[in-house]
Amino acid sequence: MKLVIIDQDLRIHDNPAIYYAIKQANIDNQDLIIIYILDEVNKRATGLASKCFLHNLLANLKIDIANKLSCSLFFYSGNSMEIINKIHNDINIKELFLNNSFEPGQNKLIEKISKYCAQENIKIHIKEANLLFASDAINNMSGTHFKVFTPFWRACLQKEEQISKPLPDIRLNNKISQKLLQYFNNYSSNIDNLKLIPQSNWHQKILKYWVFKEEEILQKLENFIQLRITKYKKQRDFPAINATSKLSPYLHFGAISTRYIFNKVRNYQKIHNQIDNSDINHFLSEIGWREFSYNLLFNFKELPQKNFNAKFDKFPWYENEEILEKWQKGLTGYPIIDAGMRELWNTGWMHNRVRMIVGSFLVKDLLINWREGEKWFWDCLVDADIASNVASWQWISGSGADAAPYFRIFNPTLQSKKFDNEGNYIRKWLPELSKLSNKLIHDPSQANIFELKDANIELGKNYPAPIIDHKKARDMALMAFKSLS
Ligand SMILES: Cc1cc2nc3c(=O)[nH]c(=O)nc-3n(C[C@H](O)[C@H](O)[C@H](O)COP(=O)(O)OP(=O)(O)OC[C@H]3O[C@@H](n4cnc5c(N)ncnc54)[C@H](O)[C@@H]3O)c2cc1C
Repeated sequence: MKLVIIDQDLRIHDNPAIYYAIKQANIDNQDLIIIYILDEVNKRATGLASKCFLHNLLANLKIDIANKLSCSLFFYSGNSMEIINKIHNDINIKELFLNNSFEPGQNKLIEKISKYCAQENIKIHIKEANLLFASDAINNMSGTHFKVFTPFWRACLQKEEQISKPLPDIRLNNKISQKLLQYFNNYSSNIDNLKLIPQSNWHQKILKYWVFKEEEILQKLENFIQLRITKYKKQRDFPAINATSKLSPYLHFGAISTRYIFNKVRNYQKIHNQIDNSDINHFLSEIGWREFSYNLLFNFKELPQKNFNAKFDKFPWYENEEILEKWQKGLTGYPIIDAGMRELWNTGWMHNRVRMIVGSFLVKDLLINWREGEKWFWDCLVDADIASNVASWQWISGSGADAAPYFRIFNPTLQSKKFDNEGNYIRKWLPELSKLSNKLIHDPSQANIFELKDANIELGKNYPAPIIDHKKARDMALMAFKSLS
């Protein structure tokens, strides 16, 4: 019997573990089963919003796997090692297929599984699936990992021809034995027993923004390429414009293949060879930031816990639950921050520019440890990804690799005027401010009592006064930073 374990590769297209397992099963005329294990013993528990997203991806994938591959997907929850051991003892696994991971928890688990397979004489196949390049494949001239993005991405592009083309479609030819199906039916979990969906239905508001069928996900990419990619660089910083791909949760769960995206985009460039490439190349470089984050995490496994730049270990962070909660709930009195935090709460996603502004505000205005921001994002984002989230938070706080220098402190009001000049993004997420003029919407505290009255706003009642004075906060932050040297 051949067993495939899927994890962050929740797709049927361009999935090497699934493809090679089916190919081999067709040749050997052997049984093949695909399983997913929700393992919170060996890995960091998935955040709450991501869990709801995961539930829907898995439910749809089960149907696709049955219809398009003629295979069966079964669900388990618990310690992967115990589950694999039980299956092996019960029905004797001959070959095991899975895709590699460069996340520390999953990576360690794969090592354990490999050892187990060696002991038990199970042939194991570990494939590369989730990145353009394996994280150990891109190194600098001296053979160590890159710490700066630009040369890293240049090195990736120099090896571009090594990025494999997506795998062809495949389907299992043989019928799986009834006895085997019965065994898996008896011992696996029903998807509802994975308990990914909370009792109360707060998640419904998030899920309506997303699609979960593989063909819809691939169509999302197609729409982005056809309609928006040639304006990407020019528009990607403006949160009121639907200019980016919104593929991040699918990339995180492997519901779309990175290599598939890369090849699709390059093909589009080849066909439309008259167009200006800067927007398209910029989009690919963002995929490059994802690669870079994984490369950093692979080479600095303690990134989720430790500052990449140890100088920040002595940073005098400020602990204040009440202030943190105001940031989390979008009650800071800075509309661009509050709009971002409400977008996150309502959709499970936040625009990248706004992630940078709210992140900078938390660590540099409020002086709250980046780990608190990372934790909140982990629970609220549907794209919460250990590599991208941690690397981005460290980048924002100045402690990361190739990080924004600490003294570059975003002024939230100026950022708001620059990137949401007409206040459309703010009005969408903070309807209580919608009657303010384009000028005042970025900072209602500047409005006089008549202007506030006309807009039906009572500062401190139906919209908060700013919780901090940015100018003073900036001076404090610079002092705190100076104390490090
Ligand atoms: C504080 C902070 C936390 C973040 N946390 C996450 C996270 O948990 N998960 C996550 O996927 N991204 C994270 N990002 C990066 C980025 O904000 C999102 O990837 C992006 O907004 C997703 O939207 P999109 O798919 O429309 O992106 P696009 O602009 O369409 O970009 C395409 C893809 O490139 C990748 N990408 C884009 N920007 C980045 C980046 N800066 N770093 C790494 N990969 C990137 C994503 O996979 C994205 O889907 C974070 C950024 C900040 C500032």
